Amino acid sequence: MSGHRYLLKKASLPNGATSDLLIVDGLIKNLAANISDADATVIDVKGSVLLPGLVDLHTHLRQPGREDAETVLSGSRSGAKGGFTALSAMANTSPVADNAGVVEQVYRLGQEAGLLDVFPIGAVTQGLQGLALSEIGAMADSIARVRVFSDDGNCVFDPLVMRRALEYIKKFDGVIAQHAQEPRLTVGSQMNEGEVSAILGLKGWPAIAEEAIIARDVLLVDHVKSRLHICHVTTAGGVEIIRWAKARGINVTAEVTPHHLLLTDELARSYDPVFKVNPPLRSEKDVMALREALADGTIDIVATDHAPHTMESKECEWGEASFGMLGLETALSIVQKTMIDSGLMNWAQVADRFSTAPARIGGYIDQGRNLELGTPANVMIINPSASWIVDKDLVASKSRNTPFHGYELPGVVTHTFFNGVPTLMNSALVGTGDTR
Ligand SMILES: [Zn+2]
Repeated sequence: MSGHRYLLKKASLPNGATSDLLIVDGLIKNLAANISDADATVIDVKGSVLLPGLVDLHTHLRQPGREDAETVLSGSRSGAKGGFTALSAMANTSPVADNAGVVEQVYRLGQEAGLLDVFPIGAVTQGLQGLALSEIGAMADSIARVRVFSDDGNCVFDPLVMRRALEYIKKFDGVIAQHAQEPRLTVGSQMNEGEVSAILGLKGWPAIAEEAIIARDVLLVDHVKSRLHICHVTTAGGVEIIRWAKARGINVTAEVTPHHLLLTDELARSYDPVFKVNPPLRSEKDVMALREALADGTIDIVATDHAPHTMESKECEWGEASFGMLGLETALSIVQKTMIDSGLMNWAQVADRFSTAPARIGGYIDQGRNLELGTPANVMIINPSASWIVDKDLVASKSRNTPFHGYELPGVVTHTFFNGVPTLMNSALVGTGDTR
């Protein structure tokens, strides 16, 4: 990449100022008004917002094991299209990423794809079974340098196992990302427990199944003085517990998905399994509490929980369908729609919630650097005044299970630069790999 120079003209910065940005040899070289550089490729981005590259702390890339649904490469392409420069690959693959061999495999696949950073997440317990701790130390010491551990898809339900995991990761400043779901309260659950589930006759998934685990784990992490992250918070009650914990100085962070910021359980009335997701879509009251919590920082980050599934797994009866939705390519548009266009947040807060804060939680030092001079040029550009219509047949993901098919969404992601190299130009993907 040496010798490559890109000059982005008249970008709107997260703080509202207008500036040019010069990228030289992969680094942010200059950020100022009216830069000129005769050798640079000039890109006019007037009216568009320049953000640090988005960082996802929660992505299902399905490799190894379900390459028919997604691969590290196809997921990387999907991420680049959505403005991401880093993804965190969840451990519920087949085989499970519960040892150094698998996390190193995923890490290498990410490097080969070369479109963004792929940070493998390690399983907390062997085989995601919740019983015996996985090879946490070996994964931390591996070339993948794993710092985030999660049994996502499953809850670490045993409090003693959770305590031991929280204690173990302290020596390398790791974090346990908990999928908060008390399994005994959600056996056979199909959707949010409430009025709609009662009408539809689908087995309910009570809010307290999530809240009981969040409450237990903030007490546990306070007791052992470690670091806890709560995946995909969906309930107003969960938000209240996290707010209480933070007020007491407990070391907990939390995420919300774009789909939980917009969609409600009313959509289950269609019986269309594209709306079947774990944790489930909740009520309007929950959606409003989640937006407020993201705006005031009680919820620290947006994370996609991008969960690709094949047509066979999703286009069937609700009861048989897999849980999960695509997220990477629509994420920032949904955040613009729910948080920016509603006046709840500004772009500086979006840069924090969707780049700086997730990079800090994950320990990703070359990401989330907020346009600092001399740092790797991981940046993206969105045109907030343009809109687009989501078409499931045009996604870069290998799967088609977006709940937003046919939606007109605000905000078009036009450019993504990974370490100073364009992976998306004028909304078109550049290269399929080997671009580093
Ligand atoms: Zn999960």
